Amino acid sequence: MVKMTCIVCGVQINEKNYNFNKEAFTNSNSNEKIMYCPFCGAPMEYLIENGEEIKYDRNKLDENALKIIDHAVKLEVFNGDFYKKASDMAKDENIKNMFKALSSIEYMHARIHKKIAGIKEMPVLRNMDYSKYNTDEALLAAACQREKHAVEYYKKYGKEIHEENIVKIFNVLSKVEEEHIVLTSE
Ligand SMILES: [Zn+2]
Repeated sequence: MVKMTCIVCGVQINEKNYNFNKEAFTNSNSNEKIMYCPFCGAPMEYLIENGEEIKYDRNKLDENALKIIDHAVKLEVFNGDFYKKASDMAKDENIKNMFKALSSIEYMHARIHKKIAGIKEMPVLRNMDYSKYNTDEALLAAACQREKHAVEYYKKYGKEIHEENIVKIFNVLSKVEEEHIVLTSE
């Protein structure tokens, strides 16, 4: 298999990892055909042989843009934390595994934003009480709500960033969250 690099998150995809987080995707990668990055979910057009990460000019980011990206880091950590907990709480084995995979993808999204904004530390958010989501259905509904919120966030605030490659990354991640809406509404 050809080794490809995801130019959105920078991870190299190989025969050992192409199937990571497979529970978080509607289609699955195979050894012969890689359709998305298993780590951030970017579609195949962003997976390039010997590819290099998308470059951007951080000088084009004003205070507002940095604030938007900082919030995006927190939004993704918030959702990553939720999925981690939801994975512990879910009763159905498939849903459990899907939440676990979604958690790892959302944390990767947080890392991508963190790097863009030049943030040193991953934010640690306060522990949330999820006990009211006491069925798998309730967990799925909460997940779907969060994904919708994330898509809205990217759509609304992506417009306020005046650096085209960062906007492109926002759009890629937004599309990945759109697939998560489909997954969590089934
Ligand atoms: Zn990636």
